Amino acid sequence: MKGQVALITGASRGIGRAIALKLASQGSDVALLARDTARLEEVASEARASGVRALVVHVDMSDGDAVEQAVKKAITEMGSLDHVVANAGITADQLSIRLKPEDWDRVLAVNLTGSFRLARAALSSMLRSRTGRVVFISSVSGLMGNPGQAAYAASKAGLLGLAKSLAKEVGSRGITVNVVAPGLIETDMARALSEAQRAEMVAHVPLGRLGRAEEVAAAVSFLLSEEAGYITGAVLNISGGLYM
Ligand code: NDP
Repeated sequence: MKGQVALITGASRGIGRAIALKLASQGSDVALLARDTARLEEVASEARASGVRALVVHVDMSDGDAVEQAVKKAITEMGSLDHVVANAGITADQLSIRLKPEDWDRVLAVNLTGSFRLARAALSSMLRSRTGRVVFISSVSGLMGNPGQAAYAASKAGLLGLAKSLAKEVGSRGITVNVVAPGLIETDMARALSEAQRAEMVAHVPLGRLGRAEEVAAAVSFLLSEEAGYITGAVLNISGGLYM
């Protein structure tokens, strides 16, 4: 999207990388956030090959103050901020009775509180310019629950409440806030599952396969586009029919 500045968290690999490269290919300047700056630099080089500016910003999403500082840095260096994609996320899969409270806290801190701090910082700039788009990457686990994913599903369900509340708070200023909920997508996160776990999940997917990061990126790109100007508070699941 020519002339727009997009900020993407978790842009060092997987879905976030695919989103960053898709937006760059459409002409957006991109601010790329994650912890692994070496990988972010690689993604930035690929983005720049599309002729756009790409900024690398180190951030740990579990540190809310650092998240707000990272957004400020991106706005200062890029000059503005039009689109924000809260994509960074982690799992700590374990049956609830065995789930350590510190793992619960870590998952909630990165996936939910980090996303809140990100949106909060971005929206204060967007409210001034009276334009902007925010997309949160949730998960079908947050919509349907999943055994062994209580913390993850709670964090991803939390994003729905956050997004819908923000959509109501900022809609009058021309800002949209939406959610994309992927099913099982072929990334490091899905590769962490055993073959048996993957086969079991794919058996429940009407389209009979895992999704590709690029297929999630295409939906995010649509929600950020002008054509999606009347969509806010929506939850778009991209799961091959795993959830419907
Ligand atoms: P990956 O594990 O492949 O990538 C996760 C990304 O998040 C990395 O860029 C990582 O960067 C970043 N990240 C993780 N922890 C932190 C942290 N503390 N601070 C900053 N960045 C962090 O995951 P996916 O690409 O698969 O997932 C992306 C999003 O999509 C997540 O929110 C995930 O929950 C969601 N999702 C994924 C599904 C799937 O099947 N793959 C299904 C449904 C939802 P780094 O390590 O460099 O910090």
